[in-house]
Amino acid sequence: RCSGAQDYDFFFLVLQWPGSYCDTRQSCCYPRSGKPAADFGIHGLWPNREDGSYPQNCNPDSEFDPSKVSDLMGSLRAQWPTLACPTNDGLRFWAHEWEKHGTCAEGVFNEHGYFQAALRLRAQLRVLDALRDAGVNPDGGYYTLAQIKDAIQRSTGFEPFVDCNRDESGNSQLYQLYFCVDAAGSRFIDCPVSPGGRPCGSRIEFPAF
Ligand code: 5GP
Ligand code: 5GP
Ligand code: 5GP
Repeated sequence: RCSGAQDYDFFFLVLQWPGSYCDTRQSCCYPRSGKPAADFGIHGLWPNREDGSYPQNCNPDSEFDPSKVSDLMGSLRAQWPTLACPTNDGLRFWAHEWEKHGTCAEGVFNEHGYFQAALRLRAQLRVLDALRDAGVNPDGGYYTLAQIKDAIQRSTGFEPFVDCNRDESGNSQLYQLYFCVDAAGSRFIDCPVSPGGRPCGSRIEFPAF
């Protein structure tokens, strides 16, 4: 396909639970701004195709430029915190997401628009409230996939795909939530395809953070 043409059908908005990123054999590092809030953060907004494939690294000439999102920095630190080691300010994570995924949606978003859209979409979901209202709390307890999905579906109208990882003892835990967004990046849609991702099993831990 020719460069510049839209080469995706929709986006995955991927949220991560910091407790499950950190509660692993590999552990994590808090960003320079300090321990993030105990809430779902953004992992990325990923252009994807209906056949499950996806474009990546679409424009090597469009390097991440922090000055273009200076007005969003506070929100990015709060809602899109990095937990990778070594401790850093987050710029590396945001640069990675823009360059790998964002550049594949330059037909609809410039850099500022890309980050702004992800922040706006995340804010609409209020996922942690949805879970809490259904008694699904980040307290180290165990829940079923149905409890998690139903709680979010009831509150947001959309059923997420749930991705699990393993804690240090090997228990399956709630790591990421995938939602789907239309190609314009403006509204949530039912997912045309499931992302890859690890099975969660019947008991899913929701660790504290
Ligand atoms: P992928 O999203 O290619 O988008 O993988 C995520 C990349 O971002 C990895 O290289 C990972 O080390 C880095 N990264 C930095 N901070 C984070 C974080 O808080 N969560 C995740 N999942 N990846 C992070
Ligand atoms: P179904 O969608 O037919 O209920 O599930 C088909 C298979 O995919 C089952 O093994 C089910 O556990 C798995 N599955 C369905 N939804 C999810 C999800 O959101 N996350 C994960 N990890 N597996 C899922
Ligand atoms: P992982 O193998 O850890 O699930 O994913 C590694 C990286 O590949 C992610 O951070 C993301 O950048 C990319 N990736 C994985 N699955 C998908 C997907 O279904 N769609 C898109 N667009 N990217 C994905």
